[in-house]
Parts: sequence; C-alpha cells; structure tokens
Amino acid sequence: MILGALEAGGTKMVCAIGNEKGEILEQVSIPTETPDITVPKLISFFREKRIEALGIACFGPIDLDRSSETYGYITTTPKLAWQNYNIVGTFKKELGVPVGFDTDVNGSVLGEHTWGIAKGLHSCIYITIGTGVGVGVIVDGRLLHGMMHPEGGHILLHKLPQDTYESFCPFHKNCMEGLAAGPAIEGRWGQKAFYLMDREEVWELEAEYIAQALVNYTLLLSPQRIILGGGVMHQTQLLALVREKFKKLLNGYVKTKEIEDLENYIVLQSLDDKQGIMGALKLGMMELEK
Ligand code: ADP
Ligand code: ZN
Repeated sequence: MILGALEAGGTKMVCAIGNEKGEILEQVSIPTETPDITVPKLISFFREKRIEALGIACFGPIDLDRSSETYGYITTTPKLAWQNYNIVGTFKKELGVPVGFDTDVNGSVLGEHTWGIAKGLHSCIYITIGTGVGVGVIVDGRLLHGMMHPEGGHILLHKLPQDTYESFCPFHKNCMEGLAAGPAIEGRWGQKAFYLMDREEVWELEAEYIAQALVNYTLLLSPQRIILGGGVMHQTQLLALVREKFKKLLNGYVKTKEIEDLENYIVLQSLDDKQGIMGALKLGMMELEK
C-alpha cells in the first residue's frame, strides 16, 4: 500500500511517501510560504506517486468537525495567508484520494502509539516543545477531539515570582507556550536556547514550567505515558529535571505503577523525530479504511 503523508508546519511542509508498516520511502521538505506558492509544489510532489490516500497532520487551529461546513479548514491561525484555508478540500480535489486530517501533535501521538514508545497503551499524550507548545492526546485508544481539538499548549501555569519575562503568547501572560516554548527561552535569556546549555538556571526554570504542565495533563487526562518532543527537548539534561519536579509537584497524590516508575512514564519521543510524519501516514491509512 502506497500512502502519502504531509506534516504541515508553520515554517516547513514535510511530504513523504510510505507504506502501512510506517516505512518512509521518500521524504522532502518544502518551506511554508503562502498557499498560492506552496500548495502547488506539494501537489506536484504527491501527484506523480500514485498514492492511495493522504494523511495531513497540520498546524492549527483547524476544523475537525466532520459535520461542519468548514471541516478540513485551517481556521484562526496567526499565519494570515493560511486563515480559513480549505486544505483537505484542496488535496482531495487535486489528488482524488481520501484525505485524513488532524493536528500536528495528534499526528505525533498517533505515530508513537502505532509504531513507537506508546504501542499497546490505551491512553497517552505527546507534547511538543519547540517554536510553540502543542499536546496530542489518545484516550481509550482514540485521538481526542472534543469540541475542536485540545489546545494544551495554552494551559495557564503558575508563573514563578523571580521570572520577570513577559510571555510571548499574544493571548496569555502565563500560558505554557508563552513561558516555555523555544522563543520564550530566547526572549527571557537573550540568546538562542541552543547556546544556553551550560546555564543551570535556564533549565531549572524551564523544567519547572514543563513539570507544572505535565502534572495538569496527568491529573486531567490520566495518560499511561507522557512523551516529550520538539527542539527544546534536545536539551537532554531537561528530562531528569522534569521528572524530579513533576514528582515534587504531584506530591504523592497519584499512586499508580506508572507514576512509581517515572523513567518509563515521562519519556522522550522514540521515532527519531519522524513521529509526526509517520502519524500522518497512519491518518491516511485510517481514512482509507473508513
Ligand atoms: P517547530 O516547533 O517549529 O516545528 P522545533 O521543534 O525544532 O520546530 O523547535 C524549534 C525551537 O526549538 C526553536 O525555538 C529553537 O530555539 C529550539 N531548539 C532547537 N534545537 C534546540 C536545542 N538543541 N536546544 C534547545 N532549544 C532548541
Ligand atoms: Zn497562550
């Protein structure tokens, strides 16, 4: 089975051809400009490949309500050229194949659940900490959508008194994304996160905010495993700090075999940063089976 996968991001579009085993046979990356410039390039990549279905894991917010007139649209994104863009409709029309559609992070959690470190679990979450923060959720074996889809990057946190940085989220002064995404680290400390590796206070604070968010996700969603990905998590020293602070904040309230074993509860992505594109493959497969 030959499937197409598109991981649509704010800076780049990753296009891949793969199969039902999650194997990626070919992959290209195309910069995200306006739909007029970018979409024809994406379509010409997929058109020659004789795919049976396409899966799109997309930056958001997006409309996932199949009964809505704007199902398959990118909706209120701050990327103005993509606002109200009918991405599913366009690819369906141009390629003539079923098109599966979900958020980028639901794609990643699906990839990890199908082929990665969350295989066999019924509930898990994936959090990306990169240019933004997003949370993909599987509960009882199904991707969580609800009213639209979770926007777990914008949950409100307790800002530490010594932190004088103004959030970079234009909507919230103390949301997870505004305080802890890559650009927030950069804005707070005046340097790219990559170059702050040796500054202990940077990662202490970052781990505190990540841990606060994870405690909230654990309490609300009851995942069996929490998977962390995104550029900021390339700071490998973060993981141990996050586990330590998570334990402190939860303060013994939840006692399960999973929580007793934090090394296997809070983990890094396991698919070599291919979880998103592999999840998009699976979205295409699921649409084909519908
Ligand atoms: P995106 O979120 O745009 O898909 P990434 O997940 O790669 O992309 O996240 C990019 C962000 O991650 C940037 O803010 C960058 O500064 C940060 N980042 C990338 N690599 C590292 C690193 N090794 N250490 C710390 N931060 C990093
Ligand atoms: Zn916010």
